[in-house]
Amino acid sequence: MEKSIFITGANRGIGLEFTRQFLMTGAIIYASCRTPERATALQGLQQQYPNSLHIIALDMLDREAIHNVSTLVPQPIDILILNAGISGQSGVKIGNLDIENLQHVFATNSFAPLCLADALLERVAKSKEKLIIAISSRMGSIGDNNSGGRYAYRGSKAALNALMFSLSIDIQADGIKVLILHPGSVQTDMGGVQALITAETSVNGMRKIIDNAATYASGSFLSYTGELIPW
Ligand code: NAP
Repeated sequence: MEKSIFITGANRGIGLEFTRQFLMTGAIIYASCRTPERATALQGLQQQYPNSLHIIALDMLDREAIHNVSTLVPQPIDILILNAGISGQSGVKIGNLDIENLQHVFATNSFAPLCLADALLERVAKSKEKLIIAISSRMGSIGDNNSGGRYAYRGSKAALNALMFSLSIDIQADGIKVLILHPGSVQTDMGGVQALITAETSVNGMRKIIDNAATYASGSFLSYTGELIPW
C-alpha cells in the first residue's frame, strides 16, 4: 500500500513543495490549507494527481476543526508533517512588545501543531511508518542564538521544540517517532528572495532525513542537511 502523508500549510512555500515531491513518489497526500478555494497551485496538482491528492480545509487556529480533523482522513497516516507557521509582526523590539502578536505566533507555531498531532495520533499509530515531522527553525535554538530579537518567532519555535521533545517521549512506546527539522534559509514568502536555498533543495534534504528516519533518535533537532542543532 502507498504511504499516506498529511501536510499542513500545503498551499505555498515548503508545504507545497513537500506535497509536489511526495506526489511524485506515488504517496497519498492529505494537503491541508486554510482556503482551498484560493489554493491555485494545489488545485493544479490535483488535476495532475486526482486520485492521490486530497485537499483538506484546515485553519490551525480553529480548535474545533483540529479536534474533528481525523474524521476527514479515512486511513492511517504514515507521516504527519506539521509545517504551517508564521513569523509574526516585524520590527518588534524591547520597548514595543505586542502581547497579542506574541500570543498569535505561539498559538500558530507551538500550540496548534501539538494539538493537531494529538488529534491525529491514533491515525499515525495505525500506520506502517509512524512518523511525525515538526518543521521548526534554527531560530528556535537557544544555544545558536547570537543575535537576539525576534521574540515571538524564536520563542514559539523553542516552545515547539520543547513540546515536540516531550511528545517524542510520551509516544515512544507506541513506536511513533518525532523528528524536529530546520528547513534551512528557504526562498519562500516567509524566507524572502535573499534566502539561501530553494524550497526544492530544502525539501530534497528533509526527504532524505525522512527516508532514513530509522537512523535518527526520536526527538532529534536536525537541519535539512542532517546535522544536529543545539537546543
Ligand atoms: P510561507 O511560505 O509563509 O508559508 C506558510 C504556510 O503556513 C502557508 O501555507 C500558510 O497558509 C500556513 N499557515 C500560516 N498560518 C496558518 C494557520 N493558522 N492555519 C493554517 N495554515 C497556516 O512559509 P514557509 O517558508 O513555507 O514556512 C513553512 C515552515 O517552515 C514554517 O513553520 C516556518 O516557520 C518554517 N521555516 C521557514 C524558513 C524559511 O527560510 N522559509 C526557515 C526556518 C523555518 P496561508 O497561505 O493561508 O497563509
